[in-house]
Amino acid sequence: MELESILLPGITAERPIVIAGPCSIETEEQTMNTAKQLAEKGIKIFRGGIWKPRTKPGGFEGIGVPGLAWMKQVKKETGMYTGIEVATALHVYEALKAGIDILWIGARTSANPFAVQEIADALKGVDIPVLIKNPVNPDIELWIGAFERLNNAGLKRLGAIHRGFSSYDKKIYRNLPQWHIPIELRRRFPNLPIFCDPSHIGGKRELIAPISQQAMDMNFDGLIIESHCNPDAAWSDASQQITPEVLEYILNLLVIRQETQTTENLNELRKQIDECDNNLLAELAKRMRIAREIGTYKKEHNMPVLQAGRYNEILDKYAIQATSCGLDPEFIKKVFEAIHEESVRQQVEIINK
Ligand code: PEP
Ligand code: MN
Repeated sequence: MELESILLPGITAERPIVIAGPCSIETEEQTMNTAKQLAEKGIKIFRGGIWKPRTKPGGFEGIGVPGLAWMKQVKKETGMYTGIEVATALHVYEALKAGIDILWIGARTSANPFAVQEIADALKGVDIPVLIKNPVNPDIELWIGAFERLNNAGLKRLGAIHRGFSSYDKKIYRNLPQWHIPIELRRRFPNLPIFCDPSHIGGKRELIAPISQQAMDMNFDGLIIESHCNPDAAWSDASQQITPEVLEYILNLLVIRQETQTTENLNELRKQIDECDNNLLAELAKRMRIAREIGTYKKEHNMPVLQAGRYNEILDKYAIQATSCGLDPEFIKKVFEAIHEESVRQQVEIINK
């Protein structure tokens, strides 16, 4: 992918790049009041939802086109850049007409290649930064596919927003962070800026600070945080919005560690980990070789591959040993189940040769 900087004049790459504003803009007064407070706190990019994808009908689905005039007013009166979510070609058209500076594609939309393609087609030839939220389902290829659709349409100023992934069973988080997915995205596209959306991951105010800190520790570039002048009265996502004042407090408490700060000690520990991993690989290879020999033996003696009794014995034995080594028996059980499954697969292959 050919990428260019998403930074707009006056915005530096200093971490975190912050985008803040209400989940939904609701009234002119709420929009201007929130925006002015955020500008006073030094926020330079204002977000506001105009069209809101709601899980169920009956909720506030966004103010729509009239809200664009308030976004223009925000820009004029505070000097902040403005950003909104677009989900259709019509949204793109209206946003561009209103002079919106940054667009983002929401999590439900990025899960739908037809919708992403429609947006990409509508943006052909336009030079505007576009951020793409991860799809609601944890599918990194689908996320990357969305970037490729936009990139193929000539958009180079792209960025990612990690907003967590849906799950059936909501416990601590509203959307599970699954940090390994944005980390893998970073590995595949080191120049693609990544924002974290702690509001949608956490779903509650108390989680905004710790999730933001985690994102900074993982070297993410920015944060997009929902902020409302009166969060309790918000028409959408009330429980995850914070006042501009609380936002300032949270941002001031963030510890920003430099990537280059890795100490001698850390490098030494990493070498040790690499060595352990190499040993694990060598041992696994040896184990699989032996498993294949057993497969040959079973074939020659006309024995079945699976001997359930032995498998359960192994699992029980290792769970007990794991505990005595200070390891979590559930974790060890999972590891051995995976190893056993692979041994069985290899033996089945031998028997059927
Ligand atoms: C939002 O940013 O308000 C929003 C609807 O987010 P998501 O697409 O991540 O659910
Ligand atoms: Mn929201």
